[in-house]
Amino acid sequence: MTERKIRVRFAPSPTGALHIGGVRTALYNYLFARQHGGDMIFRIEDTDSNRFVPGAEEYIIESFKWLGIKFDEGVSFGGNYGPYRQSERREIYKQYVKQLLDNGKAYIAFDTPQELEEKRKGIPNFQYDASTRMLMNNSLTLGKEQTEALIAEGKQYVVRFLIEPNEEILVNDIIRGEVRVNSSVLDDKVLYKSADELPTYHLANIVDDHLMEVSHVIRGEEWLPSAPLHVLLYRAFGWEGTMPRFAHLPLLLKPDGNGKLSKRDGDRLGFPVFPLEWHDPKTGEISSGYRESGYLPEAVINFLALLGWNPGNNQELMTIDELIKLFDLSHCSKAGAKFDFEKGKWFNHEYILHKDNAELAEMFIPILKEHGIDAPKEKVTTVIGLMKDRVSFVKDLWETCKFFFVAPTAYDEKTKKKRWKECSGQQMLELADILETLDDFSLEHQEEVVMKWIADKGYGVGDIMNPFRLTLVGEGKGPHMFDISAVLGKEETIARIRRAVEVLK
Ligand code: GLU
Repeated sequence: MTERKIRVRFAPSPTGALHIGGVRTALYNYLFARQHGGDMIFRIEDTDSNRFVPGAEEYIIESFKWLGIKFDEGVSFGGNYGPYRQSERREIYKQYVKQLLDNGKAYIAFDTPQELEEKRKGIPNFQYDASTRMLMNNSLTLGKEQTEALIAEGKQYVVRFLIEPNEEILVNDIIRGEVRVNSSVLDDKVLYKSADELPTYHLANIVDDHLMEVSHVIRGEEWLPSAPLHVLLYRAFGWEGTMPRFAHLPLLLKPDGNGKLSKRDGDRLGFPVFPLEWHDPKTGEISSGYRESGYLPEAVINFLALLGWNPGNNQELMTIDELIKLFDLSHCSKAGAKFDFEKGKWFNHEYILHKDNAELAEMFIPILKEHGIDAPKEKVTTVIGLMKDRVSFVKDLWETCKFFFVAPTAYDEKTKKKRWKECSGQQMLELADILETLDDFSLEHQEEVVMKWIADKGYGVGDIMNPFRLTLVGEGKGPHMFDISAVLGKEETIARIRRAVEVLK
């Protein structure tokens, strides 16, 4: 048998912002597809018009663009298996619904919501299945003629899947192994509704996976309960031979305690659960996003890749290419993965450390502009090189680095008390005079000259350096002193010293 081409799909329903768990699902599909030289499809499952949210589809596309997850075909990408939006595939589904009806694998049911409610009240643990379907209002009890008459009259109906009881269903899951379910626990699921002429999720999902030649269904654990029904649908259509392999990914769990990660956890603990900021068109509510919170997309990818999988050693930092090489679907964990957002911050910090300073400067310059500062890129790049090990986010560079761009106007009291001595003012003026004589204001040259002056005068190094820091920074923090003065330049350095001496007198 020739190997089947690997084809996977990410198939969100456009019901709102994309949850970070959905991003992880898409990422695993992407890694798997790339690893095998396969195709990744972007399908929109919008058959439930009640849950449709405008803007959600565009939001999802933009999210993946930001993250660098590329699709080979699908909505907005094109391809030979379209249309890729389920609402545009009505006619296709109708054919398959008809096939099931013609083969006796499905039937038409007219029960109204009220009738169903009554049955639920009257029959304990009511389920629409082999044990009850002959008590209901459907084509099996009414017969062909009456059914056709009702349809001709315009009565709305649904098509239900006829599930034979007591059959063993085997779901062979790459992550979970063999999951066996008895068909008697399933109900005769609604596959199609005449009211909107649309199939339900189950039918559309199976038909599309088949027609789009999907080889692997990689999705969240919440879909595992649907898998036995999906297996039965493949059987009913006679498609068992090309049924995709399933892989149900572990849940993302709350950072604290048990249970599924929710948006509320993010709000409560202060981290985003969406890739991009989301403006809910219905409620007007704005939810934070990883992009707007200052995360680098590479860091988010690396962080998510390890929520449910690891390379089998302690390696944590991996580029997307390494992830593609190392990822192993069969080694994903069955147990849920705790969403440790502090770890997410750590990843961002690491990616900032590894990122090119000039690229970070491009990101920091707009923030400087917001604070009214127009600094040359070379200076910003140098400052970032000196300071980036102190931050987890580009936006935090402002607080950490602002003294490079604005002179201090106040001086930290504690530092002043501890470091500014009787003779400090005089010594700082001497220092300013020494610096004044320098033509070469490089770090190395300043250091050489100043250290020699300190030694010649018999001053204590700390007695000079600590007040010097206070004059330039305004507090007792910061990198190496001559790094600071070299970046500030001769004029600014001397001006800051003289101003501080005035103020601290
Ligand atoms: N439309 C489903 C969702 O929103 C797809 C589930 C699946 O991948 O089969 O996640």
